[in-house]
Amino acid sequence: MEKKHRTIIEPFKIKVVEPLPLPSREEREEYLRKAGYNLFLVPSREVTFDFLTDSGTTAMSAEQWGAMMVGDESYAGSRSFEKFEKVVRELTGYSHVIPTHQGRAAEKLVFSLLAKPGMKIPSNNHFDTTRANIEQLGAEAVDLVIAEGKDPQSRHPFKGNIDLARLEAFCQENQGKIPCGMLTITNNTGGGQPVSLENIRGAAAIYRKHGIPFILDVCRFAENSYFIKMREPGQQERPVRDIARETFALADGCMMSAKKDALVNIGGFIALKDPAWVDRLRSLLILTEGFPTYGGLAARDLEAMAVGLIDVLEESYLEYRLAVTRYMAEKLNRLGIPTVQPPGGHAVYIDAKSFLPHIPPAQFPGQALVVELFRSEGIRSCEIGSVMFGKAATMELVRWAFPRRVYTQSHFDYILEGMEDLVANKDRLRGMRMTYEPPFLRHFTARFEPLLDG
Ligand SMILES: *Cc1c(COP(=O)(O)O)cnc(C)c1O
Repeated sequence: MEKKHRTIIEPFKIKVVEPLPLPSREEREEYLRKAGYNLFLVPSREVTFDFLTDSGTTAMSAEQWGAMMVGDESYAGSRSFEKFEKVVRELTGYSHVIPTHQGRAAEKLVFSLLAKPGMKIPSNNHFDTTRANIEQLGAEAVDLVIAEGKDPQSRHPFKGNIDLARLEAFCQENQGKIPCGMLTITNNTGGGQPVSLENIRGAAAIYRKHGIPFILDVCRFAENSYFIKMREPGQQERPVRDIARETFALADGCMMSAKKDALVNIGGFIALKDPAWVDRLRSLLILTEGFPTYGGLAARDLEAMAVGLIDVLEESYLEYRLAVTRYMAEKLNRLGIPTVQPPGGHAVYIDAKSFLPHIPPAQFPGQALVVELFRSEGIRSCEIGSVMFGKAATMELVRWAFPRRVYTQSHFDYILEGMEDLVANKDRLRGMRMTYEPPFLRHFTARFEPLLDG
């Protein structure tokens, strides 16, 4: 078909709107002072563009809101659960569906069953909460992403791939110690980088050969499937739903944070092919989340997930979704702002170390940029560098994670216009000093002071 337009548009009309907070620069300076220059401590009513996370920040569709009104809030055997279960079964091909209130609750249940001291669980990269849930139980979370996945400038099309040779060796060396093997799609820790179908097939074969159950972390399965359609040889003509189905079929089960690719504000689930773990998981579920037909959610949340899991595979949506990060990364690069390459599915990562070479890591170049982005543009973003990881940080990144269906092209263009000024004046930016350091997870509550010249 002939394509006349270069612009990829938002494939939706807007029915419900929320005013965009538009404080002045002076007001923002005041909020920054009050918040100790930590954006986690700034109230959202003062934030114009909130790129802190893509988790639970989706704008739902009219159909999702409509479905919520027919939620059957019965304690047991809810009609909404039946609907949700049917959608998850059709999507994944897994028979056993266990709802949870979010992704980490699914992780807690699965690892409570599987992870014991001395055990090891391999993946491309474990997400923070996955790792924490495994290590909390005394087991080890092992990352085996390919070397290109650790190189911010490598343009490998599937930087989320697991290193299959290392995985094979790992499984041989650790026989009897691996209760399950994983893959995270897309690879969040590596910047939302996709995993190829070929790689998922390869990992599945290795896990199968060693008798290890294969569990996917599928928070962004739809974005991953669309990357496969775009980039993997031979996949271009396939409906993205087929690619997603094949992905699920290669594994034995999955864990999902519905706050990502189920297009909802809260929710998650576990789904499994085999019934072996199901009774024990449901007993644990009743202990900490709730009865198996609601799992810590309201039935209306199950309704919204059921619709979201179908909507998210709409190809016009996915084309638009992946165009957002691509567009922003390309335009930022053209302005001289370096980013991790290539952009992933849900976020753009600005390389603050190369952008602000005059600010040493000890003076938190990422935090200096986060603060300036809020001061000058009203953007809330997240430092992933020396503030978050201390001296262990290898990069100084600033993440813009884009909420789904929330901001429009003119918002993005407006931001890019503002970036021109920031680039012109970047040599004037100064570093930060940490004035309060909490004992753990310091990025959430630390406080800072800007360093002055001289
Ligand atoms: C968000 C996320 C989780 C955890 O999900 P929550 O709903 O935030 O608890 C797990 N894995 C990945 C890859 C994620 O992105």
